[in-house]
Amino acid sequence: MRVRVPDNCLGLDAAGGRRYDARHGIVDVDPIDVPAISRSYAGQIGLIVQSVSFASAPGRTCACGFSAFAWQEKCPRCGRKLKEEA
Ligand SMILES: [Zn+2]
Repeated sequence: MRVRVPDNCLGLDAAGGRRYDARHGIVDVDPIDVPAISRSYAGQIGLIVQSVSFASAPGRTCACGFSAFAWQEKCPRCGRKLKEEA
């Protein structure tokens, strides 16, 4: 799962001492670590609020195959409007 973090966020700490490095405001996180991260310091101060909502909402997949965030309305790759998935 991709989690969006502020540009000045260097990474997210997950359970068990694992750490994810942030690159360009994006962190690829194993879905099993999302609950721990959302309970972490970063989650508690709201830095990754978007990822929390993403965790509870389905993502959107564009017709071009791009997996977008649930809150994105347009495909970042091709610009098509994204449909909400049930
Ligand atoms: Zn697309």
